[in-house]
Amino acid sequence: MPEIQILSPHVADLIAAGEVVERPASVVKELMENAFDAGAKSVTVELRGGGMTYLRITDDGCGMSPEDAGIAFLRHATSKLRTARDLEAIGTLGFRGEALAAISAVSRIELTTRRRESASGTRMTLSAGEIESMYETGCAEGTTIIVKDLFYNTPARLKFMKSDRAEGSACVQAAFRCALGRPDVSVRCIRDGEEQFFSPGDSRMESCVYSLLGREEAKNMLACSGENEGVTVTGFVSSPAAGKGNRARQFFFCNGRVIRSQALQAALEQAYKNTLLVGKFPACVLYLTLSNAAVDVNVHPAKTEVKFTREREVFDAVYYAVRSALDGEQRTAEVQVSPATQKKAEPRSDFYQTMTSAEFRARQGSANYAPARTYQTHTPRPETSLRSPSAAPRPAYTPAPPMPRPAAPKPEPKREPTPVQTAMEQFPEHAVDQAPEVPARFIGEAMHTYILVEKGETLVLIDKHAAHERINFDRLSAQTEPLMSQTLLSPVPFDAADADAEVLRAQLPLLEEMGFELEELSGDSYLIRAVPALIREQDAAAALEEICADLRHGGLLDPRAARNEILKTVSCKAAIKAGWQTEPQELLKLAEAVLSGQVKYCPHGRPVAVTMTRKELDKLFLRIV
Ligand code: ADP
Ligand code: MG
Repeated sequence: MPEIQILSPHVADLIAAGEVVERPASVVKELMENAFDAGAKSVTVELRGGGMTYLRITDDGCGMSPEDAGIAFLRHATSKLRTARDLEAIGTLGFRGEALAAISAVSRIELTTRRRESASGTRMTLSAGEIESMYETGCAEGTTIIVKDLFYNTPARLKFMKSDRAEGSACVQAAFRCALGRPDVSVRCIRDGEEQFFSPGDSRMESCVYSLLGREEAKNMLACSGENEGVTVTGFVSSPAAGKGNRARQFFFCNGRVIRSQALQAALEQAYKNTLLVGKFPACVLYLTLSNAAVDVNVHPAKTEVKFTREREVFDAVYYAVRSALDGEQRTAEVQVSPATQKKAEPRSDFYQTMTSAEFRARQGSANYAPARTYQTHTPRPETSLRSPSAAPRPAYTPAPPMPRPAAPKPEPKREPTPVQTAMEQFPEHAVDQAPEVPARFIGEAMHTYILVEKGETLVLIDKHAAHERINFDRLSAQTEPLMSQTLLSPVPFDAADADAEVLRAQLPLLEEMGFELEELSGDSYLIRAVPALIREQDAAAALEEICADLRHGGLLDPRAARNEILKTVSCKAAIKAGWQTEPQELLKLAEAVLSGQVKYCPHGRPVAVTMTRKELDKLFLRIV
């Protein structure tokens, strides 16, 4: 056993640095938090080479005096905390006095800073935590920190870095989260010379969310607000019809801090219980405000985990705020866009699905979470509207989404009804195996979505997508040989989220058997070279993303269950969609399959057909009571 030695401060700093600065994205977060704490109104984040070679954060905050700059990079140097008592209620994002020390220990730094009241500023350079030069200089008010050659002196850490692309995306994502948390600060993010996003900083939650999430996503969000036991919740949640394939679009902030919290995630998802399809997740941007004393942020060096003193109250606040937003009666509070913006942002009408309050209530099952007691929610402010940030110095900017989003297929051009359509109106009798005596008549299609069939005294409405999906699924499930594969004309890049990369690695052989061909580029970046022949090229990335999400939640370990999940997605992607123009022959085939009783539920469990009897219709029209 060697002798015990006290580590040198340099080695101790390197070890501590590892906790705070895991990757370039952590540097972005820490420096942005410093800028916010300095009272900045405008922050610019610029990065090159994935953030490892060059990262620059500029703010117009209070700046530092030469004396402060001289000690800011020492460990435990902070202006935000004095005594142990201060730890009980932390009102700033930083407080540990660690970030600058940690970042400078593993990089080369250039700092330029000027306090508002000073005539001149300070310029300083550091390497591996040591000050190399420091002199007076003329510069703008505020602070600019350039971090170069991150991890140049810790090769072990450098080896763990992913591709520039992946690290760069993580940096943008970190900046994005910080920006979303502070509607009162204008944030611009530039990567390799290209603007990634811009938020106006006009203090309006709506314009912040609109400019960062983009109009399409913002349009599907509902305003949300509530209060419980001193915990205020405001923000936006996705409408149930706009569920996501994963949790990447769930953003929680507590007193301006980006946080991760299983309790909040659970509260959010409980509120959606029975309103979202299985495997879909809500999106949200929720701002919690509570007393600084009621939340402990000193849990982990990265400060994203927090402990609530009274977790139950916080859970309730989120749960009820979201419930009240989802409640049909409050749909008037739905995020609105100004008429001009709305016109520009008009969704493809065929694909835009809204849910009426009646539908919502019908779907609303009893959440098995029993509220602690009756609860008063805030009525969402009627003026809450999501306008394009016209007051902003720059036009609305749609950020490059951090996750690959599916490219929605365009509805096929409308065609005139073919002569076949008229000829086919008489439904062939042989199709109705179970009740050949009752002839069925194909009436047509409504809303490019529902097939209408009359069968004796019953009206049958068939969801053409759901029915087709089920037929595909049954056929593929019965198939024993590998699925036909189709090589893509141009391979599609696929950046797997952390959890997805694991899934992909584990299920690669199975995915190959199902017709996917993936090439691992580096870290979690892949190229999709081929997909099952049934999947359209433009659906490739979306399909894979969905499969990953399904596999994560379902049968990761059981190959049969995993195969099933993949087949579900392939069947869904291969199916005709609501809103598409479909040939009458195809509709007829689907109707036949449904009426013959082959097909009852889509693979996700939704019904494929609903029926209405004459009696039910007569009742609706008060012909009978
Ligand atoms: P902490 O944020 O926990 O105090 P840091 O190491 O991140 O620790 O920063 C050390 C100190 O340097 C801060 O307390 C603050 O006084 C000063 N500082 C850091 N960044 C800035 C900035 N952008 N503007 C003004 N002062 C800053
Ligand atoms: Mg800090």
